[in-house]
Amino acid sequence: MSRARVLILNAALGPLDYRVPHGMAVEPGSIVVAPLGPRQLLGVVWEPEFMPSDAEVGDNRLRPLLAKAEVPPLGASLRRLVEWTAAYYLAPPAAVLRMCLSSTSALEGARSVTEYRATGEVPDRLTPQRAQALERIGDRQGLIRELATTADVSDAVIRGLVKAGALEGVEVDIDSPFPLPDPDHGAPTLSTDQRAAADTLVADVAARAFAPTLLDGVTGSGKTEVYFEAVAAAIRAGQQTVVLLPEIALTEPFLKRFHDRFGCEPVAWHSGLRSSQRRRAWRAIASGQALVTVGARSALFLPYHNLGLIVVDEAHETSFKQEDGVHYHARDVAVMRGKFESCPVILASATPAIETRQQVALGRYAEVQLPGRYGPAELPTIEAIDLIATPPERGRWLAPKLVASLRERLERREQSLLFLNRRGYAPLTLCRTCGHRFQCPNCTAWMVEHRLTRRLACHHCGHVMPTPRACPECKAEDSLVACGPGVERIADEVALLFPEAKTAVVTSDTIWSPAKAAEFVGRMEAGDIDIVVGTQLVTKGYHFPNLTLVGVVDADLGLEGGDLRAAERTFQQIRQVSGRAGRGEKPGHVMIQTHSPKAQVMRALVTGDADAFYTAETAARRDAGAPPFGRYAAIIVSSEDRACAHETALLVGRSAPRVEGMAVYGPAPAPLAMLRGRHRYRLLVHARRALDVQDIIRDWLGGLEWSAKARVAVDVDPYSF
Ligand code: ADP
Ligand code: ZN
Repeated sequence: MSRARVLILNAALGPLDYRVPHGMAVEPGSIVVAPLGPRQLLGVVWEPEFMPSDAEVGDNRLRPLLAKAEVPPLGASLRRLVEWTAAYYLAPPAAVLRMCLSSTSALEGARSVTEYRATGEVPDRLTPQRAQALERIGDRQGLIRELATTADVSDAVIRGLVKAGALEGVEVDIDSPFPLPDPDHGAPTLSTDQRAAADTLVADVAARAFAPTLLDGVTGSGKTEVYFEAVAAAIRAGQQTVVLLPEIALTEPFLKRFHDRFGCEPVAWHSGLRSSQRRRAWRAIASGQALVTVGARSALFLPYHNLGLIVVDEAHETSFKQEDGVHYHARDVAVMRGKFESCPVILASATPAIETRQQVALGRYAEVQLPGRYGPAELPTIEAIDLIATPPERGRWLAPKLVASLRERLERREQSLLFLNRRGYAPLTLCRTCGHRFQCPNCTAWMVEHRLTRRLACHHCGHVMPTPRACPECKAEDSLVACGPGVERIADEVALLFPEAKTAVVTSDTIWSPAKAAEFVGRMEAGDIDIVVGTQLVTKGYHFPNLTLVGVVDADLGLEGGDLRAAERTFQQIRQVSGRAGRGEKPGHVMIQTHSPKAQVMRALVTGDADAFYTAETAARRDAGAPPFGRYAAIIVSSEDRACAHETALLVGRSAPRVEGMAVYGPAPAPLAMLRGRHRYRLLVHARRALDVQDIIRDWLGGLEWSAKARVAVDVDPYSF
């Protein structure tokens, strides 16, 4: 091949043609460095027939490729996945491709890098800036650039610390292989139900064909042990597995269980990795040496050399939906990857999404079930507490009955969990004197008080400010009041009620790394915590045998807003958190505080009749033509200039094509009318399943021109609206 079509890693560019210089051999998938103007950019060689180019350049005018990376080419199945993802989610192919090449340093030939860490020696005369940088670095290790970012200083400050002897260099081998998991290391004896389920999954691995399966089992039924059998089968066959988890906080307990079962840890892939770890993992995955990878949704786009199995754990979780950049749903992309790789895909969940259940009903996915909990554990009993009939005391949030149950657990030395899906102390702060409310300057959102850090924070853009003493409007002192509860406020109430109890607040503010999660698990297992107050971060994955009471502080919270999936999500979340209770020999009990105990979702939770809930919910979706029976796409128009955003949205709306079976609503201000300083308008497209919405939208938007100050993004299958 003397001419190559290259997809450059720049979302604004289409594919470009280059000349392949003498002595360089490329094939589709080869990763190359290509010139563009004065720049040198990374790209991937693509089959011309799959990536048409508008600009056909004559042979004699082609510029030559500059270099080829010494890594295996991206496989055909991954290239097909990039094309599919780009087409389905209406994203630039280069933006999808970038997710596959997420460690560009892995493409360089080096075998080791120098990282730096504290020597423990603090030189006498350090400038305050250096001293502070050293403190922020703590026991972290990394490249100069990484440490500079950690400490929020320039590279020069870090180099100064090296010179002063406070930091030392360490050679890190980035080519060392990962340990090989042993499929027979800690194999458990499976129950009869588990055995049957595992046999089906193992047979799928052996067949090495596309086979999506819903592994549907109540919380504590032992789904992990079951899909571990499939992982063991893949390991025996020398094939790679990727396990996707919805949350980085779940990685740590997973690593531990994996270690117990297979004698070593799998390769972890998440945003917290240092660049050297990223590079080592990427290369081992691309070469096929790394057999099992566990990670967040981004692990789906890695260039596995020989992928034999994909597992999506807690497959119903909404965090699998990526909400910026390429708007993709990792659960759905996982199934497509399995299709292109010809390998089985296991979706494990105790509360499958209605979409997934529908695929089973249509016969597209197989289903294996685990009907009961493993061992002696029984499912917890669940009761609703009517907040209208038996309200908490004034200014409190926990009803008397829940307080009494907490007291009982403390006396019995058992652990309790209070669940409230709201970080911080209070969701809204206002001034009692003038009524001023603290709003984020960049978003249509209230600033949330965080009392532990004495700050007000926006949960959408990250804007923070110190909590003021006086009202910024009327200057009244000590006039600010917190409205409504967050987890920190519940923890305060617990401390007031039970001064002797040991409590822990578990949210993304307190558990932001696998190490922090490990610390929390350790304290729970040691009995060092009596009452956990947590957000959705504690609803899944954890197994604490001595935890026997779960209190849901505000079960109605998720039902606000009238979202299409509100009831389903509430059901899933509360059932998941309920599943943390009574996982050992002691029975579990769950108390759900609600203002509407008669609502269908609350009744279904109390009776445990999941089928009844799903049947009614599915029927309602069918009547409304909502997913999975119809489809939605959101078109979000945004700009820093409100008028520009509005005009562009009107333009898009005016140009909407008339298509039988499709309706376009809006434009209207988006649910977050301002986000990170950008004004947002939304158009909602609702269409019959059979329509090719992507094609329609591509033609529609492709024919329009709008101001450079406006951005138009499409969210296919949007999640929250
Ligand atoms: P799920 O993921 O379905 O909620 P888990 O896989 O976490 O359930 O299993 C619940 C508990 O039961 C875990 O502590 C797990 O180690 C244990 N367990 C499950 N199956 C077995 C087995 N066959 N032998 C021993 N322990 C098991
Ligand atoms: Zn904000």
